[in-house]
Amino acid sequence: CGIVGYVGKRDSQNILIEGLKKLEYRGYDSAGVAVFTKDGLQVKKSKGRLANLESKLGESPLTGSIGIGHTRWATHGKPSDVNSHPHTDNSQKFSVVHNGIIENYISLKEELVAKGHVFVSETDTEVISHLIASLYDGDIVKAVQQAVSRMRGAFALGVLTEYEPEKLVAVRLASPLVIGVGEGENFIGSDIPAILDYTRNVYILNDGEMAVLTTDGVELMTLEGNFISRELFHVDWDI
Ligand code: GLU
Repeated sequence: CGIVGYVGKRDSQNILIEGLKKLEYRGYDSAGVAVFTKDGLQVKKSKGRLANLESKLGESPLTGSIGIGHTRWATHGKPSDVNSHPHTDNSQKFSVVHNGIIENYISLKEELVAKGHVFVSETDTEVISHLIASLYDGDIVKAVQQAVSRMRGAFALGVLTEYEPEKLVAVRLASPLVIGVGEGENFIGSDIPAILDYTRNVYILNDGEMAVLTTDGVELMTLEGNFISRELFHVDWDI
C-alpha cells in the first residue's frame, strides 16, 4: 500500500504512476489516481495491477499538474474498482487517498448518513472525504485538521479539493509519509524511493504532523496548526 502526490508545473499522471511503481514492493490489490484537469477533479481507479490502471489512463489520460495516487491493501471492503482509492464525497469536490485504518469509521459513517451523505464504497476511508466535505467552510487546512481530530486509528492521507486547486494537504499519524521538495514542484510519498527520481531534498513527517504543498513551497505544521520549522534532509544514497 502506498501514497504519492504531485504539485508543480509538469503533467502529473506519469509522475504519479512511476511513483506508485516504486511502492509496488509494499503489496497492493488495486490502484488509482485523482488529477485536477480542466474539467475539475477527475478520478481513475482499478482493481488489480497498476497495468490495469495504466491501460484505463491510456484510453483517456488525465491531464493536469496536481494529483494524488494510491495503491491499496484492502482492510475494510473487498478489492474492487469502487473500493479503490481515491475516494470522494457526494459533491465530487474532495478527493482523498489513505493508508491505514479508521477505527471509528462506523460511528462517523452513521453520523454522516444521518446528515444525508450517501456512501458508495464499503471502505473505512470514504468517511474521510465525506467528513472533510461536511466540515469545509472555505479553508481546507482547517477542515482536514477538524476531520482528523474526529478520527481514531492509523493513517497517512493525501487530500485535494477543487475549491483550493493549488493546494495538496498531507497528514501523517502512525503511517509513513515523506515530503519531497523540488524547484517549482513538490511531492509526497510513502517512502523516499517513490520520489527520489525527482528530488533529493525531503522533509520526513513525524506522527501528528501535516504539510501543505503548493507549487512554490511547503508548510509544515502540527495537526493542531502550530507551524514547524525543520531542516531539509538531503538523501545521498541511491536505490
Ligand atoms: N483501510 C483502507 C482501505 O481498506 C486503506 C488500506 C490501505 O492502507 O491501503 O481501503
